[in-house]
Amino acid sequence: FNTERFGQHILKNPQVAQTIVDKANLRPTDKVMEVGPGTGNLTVRILEKAKHCTAIEMDPRMAAELTKRVQGKPEQRKLDIMIGDFVKATLPYFDVCISNTPYQISSPLIFRLLSHRPIFRTAILMFQREFALRLVARPGTDLWSRLSSNVQLYAKVDLIMNVGKNNFRPPPKVESSVIRLVPRDPPPPVEFNEFDGLGRIVFTRRNKTIHANFLAKGVMEMLESNWKTWAAANDVMIDDTFDIKKKVEEVLEQTGFGEQRAAKMDIDDLLKLLSAFHDVGIHFA
Ligand code: SAM
Repeated sequence: FNTERFGQHILKNPQVAQTIVDKANLRPTDKVMEVGPGTGNLTVRILEKAKHCTAIEMDPRMAAELTKRVQGKPEQRKLDIMIGDFVKATLPYFDVCISNTPYQISSPLIFRLLSHRPIFRTAILMFQREFALRLVARPGTDLWSRLSSNVQLYAKVDLIMNVGKNNFRPPPKVESSVIRLVPRDPPPPVEFNEFDGLGRIVFTRRNKTIHANFLAKGVMEMLESNWKTWAAANDVMIDDTFDIKKKVEEVLEQTGFGEQRAAKMDIDDLLKLLSAFHDVGIHFA
């Protein structure tokens, strides 16, 4: 195991560790999942407040250190340590997720959490600052992106605090930030791959018009092939006059979104556009 590869930067500032756990507003009945506990600086604080914690740690040496830290104490029976890679692990039931994990797994972590069922109450997560700022970005600001809209489709996300690199040993190369993620419950009734597929097109050049992005290389071909699959599955006749470009442009015209830009569109706008396409059988995944 190698510090860089596994992102083993231990949080040394006790105030920061306490704030992370406090922001989770843990209840005595809560089951917590912690990802990447390391030597347990967050874990011991979680165990003070929660009913139970399952900690998923990839490095057996770290897991051994954590085991030693709680051994013989009353908290020991509240803690389960799973040794393995979070990305591949079967997740336990949890009400709250707390994680300060290496930044290499930021994306899989966030999307695994969003697709997890049953829906949990809240997650407090530390990320590289740039990634955190993209997660919380609002429409009309510089960092509003496909990632922001995909995540905010399913959850409310807020920035909790910035954490400088000197709070870690050894200090990482990048700055960090902590965010809170609260899943929308019930989740919006839209297929993620469809929403993301539209996002891929409109956020490619987010300051260009939606219309211009639909004219980009390969887009019409992809939509035509999806349309044919949909038509075949729904017994819709495909005649010679079928023109995908015309169909797309009709939707853009009717909805008025053709001249808008993804940089300024909110989730509601994107959902309206997606549903107008679905109404005429145009799909993105
Ligand atoms: N949470 C501790 C803290 O705040 O001091 C440790 C933080 S350290 C940045 C990240 C921890 O995640 C390390 O203990 C590392 O071994 C573990 N880890 C790295 N990749 C992992 C993965 N894919 N699944 C589970 N744990 C992982």
